[in-house]
Amino acid sequence: MLSYQHAYHAGNFADVHKHLTLYAVIDHLLRKKSSVTYIDTHAGRGRYPLQAKETSRLAEYRHGAEKLWQARQTLQADPLLEDWLAGLASAQQHQPATRLDHYPGSPWWMAQRLRAQDSLQLFELHPGEHGHLSQQELPVRARHRHADGLSGLLSGLPVKSPRLCVLVDPSYERKSEYAEVADTLLEAMRKARHAIMLVWYPLLPAEHYMTLLEALKAGGQRKIWRSELSLGTVGREGGMHGSGMLVINPPWGLEQRLADAMHRLTPLWGDASHYRADWWVPE
Ligand code: SAM
Repeated sequence: MLSYQHAYHAGNFADVHKHLTLYAVIDHLLRKKSSVTYIDTHAGRGRYPLQAKETSRLAEYRHGAEKLWQARQTLQADPLLEDWLAGLASAQQHQPATRLDHYPGSPWWMAQRLRAQDSLQLFELHPGEHGHLSQQELPVRARHRHADGLSGLLSGLPVKSPRLCVLVDPSYERKSEYAEVADTLLEAMRKARHAIMLVWYPLLPAEHYMTLLEALKAGGQRKIWRSELSLGTVGREGGMHGSGMLVINPPWGLEQRLADAMHRLTPLWGDASHYRADWWVPE
């Protein structure tokens, strides 16, 4: 039974960390002409109106994307943040954007940068969320399916394009999802050895995410880079005190680009917040 709806959390600090990492990876992929298949295993709705009753209830975006929006004049000194903020501006309903009225989810960040040679596959299992997603205007090369993203990913591999980029962003409503994600990633990497895979996980006091990290290491996967933004305090967002991303096969230069951006951003969340990135498993 799925109950999680991302609309309640859209644009929070974890979305900023996740989508900035995703954006930076896509930016590297676009430096070469060869085609890319993007797969979003847990797509959500696509683009979130901030005035919707779900999103305005907790208004987590005020502690996330809106902080960046308000500080955009100074943040634009960093090239990655400048581009990301321009992307955020272009996702707004009212143009030219002077205020935030929408927050774009992962399908939007991927679809926005799709070229003629690329394709996008979106999976969303929640019927209501998939209903919202299917109403989004997406490029013709984007396909969305009302199906399980983990088995959908495996059944579609290997892909025809020379390059593959996957985002796995579950809601972790069940503790067993951490192990299921690890098993899926290990099998997916056997089928697509050069794929870039991004996985989001919440930093929670119980540290269940360590099941995922340890299983990937134990499974023999190499080249796993880890990026974590910690607020240093237990937040109201389900006790989540931070956001983690793993990137398997990160593009060269990603680490430095993101570090520059994140070191500028992190002080927005107060003195207790900090950012760290390292190799969870090296080459
Ligand atoms: N990736 C989205 C973004 O960044 O904008 C947010 C995704 S949200 C954290 C997780 C989504 O996965 C929810 O919409 C949930 O309904 C969906 N979901 C849960 N289990 C799933 C599964 N097995 N396959 C596909 N989607 C699933």
